[in-house]
Amino acid sequence: MRNLSGQSKKIDLGGQEIVYCLRSSARAKCLRVAIKPGGEVFAVKPRFLPDFLVERFLRQKSGWILDKIADLKNKKNLLARGCRADFLRHAKPARDLVLRKIGKFSQTYQFDFNRVSIRDQKTRWGSCSRRGNLSFNYRIALLPDRLADYIVAHELCHLKEMNHSRRFWDLLAVALPDCKLRRRELKNY
Ligand SMILES: [Zn+2]
Repeated sequence: MRNLSGQSKKIDLGGQEIVYCLRSSARAKCLRVAIKPGGEVFAVKPRFLPDFLVERFLRQKSGWILDKIADLKNKKNLLARGCRADFLRHAKPARDLVLRKIGKFSQTYQFDFNRVSIRDQKTRWGSCSRRGNLSFNYRIALLPDRLADYIVAHELCHLKEMNHSRRFWDLLAVALPDCKLRRRELKNY
């Protein structure tokens, strides 16, 4: 559900008018509905599925959808929040934190890198370029320590393994045996 362009539709669910975004996809095999942080509703349907079946499905699932919207309305994803002032305020602490953690994990991973930068990104926590430049989201300073550890160790391992292969996860598990658990925690944070 990356591509969020689609038709805006309305439906009455349990007396509430719900606006949702409907997209047709040639690749979708079945109808999928997702509620995003903030409470927006997205549906993706196989191209030839008629709209009335989408509406029927939404009505059948109305209890779940309304619960989920109420749940997520106030919970905006941390990555989606923040303004320039937040970046300016947290960039320095984030940098100090990242450098400290790089120092810690370099006892395990002695990989060479170039530059470390702190950025304001809406969709990612960190990245590692082919030239060995490491970038981190300033919001790392707002995370629980064990998740910040995960992000830094993750990017350090990309200096050696530029993908998410089995080898990459094995390498990350040397420093963080519960890395997959932390990854899930970060996704849900
Ligand atoms: Zn990665």
